[in-house]
Amino acid sequence: MRKKIVAGNWKMNLDYNEGLGLFSEIINMIKDEVTGTQEAIICSPFIHTHSLAQMAKGYTKVSLGAQNAHQAEAGAYTGEISAKMIKSVGAAYVILGHSERRQYFGENNELLAKKTDTVLKNDLHPIFCIGETLQEREANKHFDVIRTQLVEGIFHLDAAQFSKLVLAYEPVWAIGTGVTATSDQAQEIHEFIRKEIAAKYNQEVADATTILYGGSCNPKNAPELFAQPDIDGGLIGGASLKSRDFVDILK
Ligand code: PGA
Repeated sequence: MRKKIVAGNWKMNLDYNEGLGLFSEIINMIKDEVTGTQEAIICSPFIHTHSLAQMAKGYTKVSLGAQNAHQAEAGAYTGEISAKMIKSVGAAYVILGHSERRQYFGENNELLAKKTDTVLKNDLHPIFCIGETLQEREANKHFDVIRTQLVEGIFHLDAAQFSKLVLAYEPVWAIGTGVTATSDQAQEIHEFIRKEIAAKYNQEVADATTILYGGSCNPKNAPELFAQPDIDGGLIGGASLKSRDFVDILK
């Protein structure tokens, strides 16, 4: 059985005290909600990670993640954070290839392939994001775009490495816009991604891969999205900044 995950992506929001406050509310509310093969992940700014990891001790179903990592192991990269540092403060996951990183920081598939290698080398799990822009969807190129992101970003991994990944399908036109992909649109892409994984590796690897949906996910639309056979949870931006909404999505 593949893992069901709800991951919050706080982006560049919440100062240190606000972050600790929100996290404390969340862990108190979800105490008994996350069971079995389910997991809740909070991807906070780097600044918060160590403290949140301390607070999460004893909550086996709550993990921490970062939102980015540098591709190099260490060195003269002023202002950057390495995968090893992220690991050392108690995080287990790193979001890679978020569309905001691709768009505002020029991260392309080639760079993301390197980041994926470095993150895996440091025993962290990438949450690897893929998704098409509105323009690409309107030009009917979305399947090609997603295939290329998979091939160039992560299909160089062997099956054992690939099994450490979580994928997130996030149509760029649905992120922070209030426009959600319909459950049929999302399911169609998730099924496509799983088929691509089966073709590259095998059915067993494909069936074991957790594929999250992201993009204006909220407590109202989550039940229908998560009921789709190939949608294994969500990557939540805006709604992860409110404890009640995040926990309702998780439920
Ligand atoms: P959103 O963001 O839920 O605010 O649309 C999702 C994401 O960017 O991961």
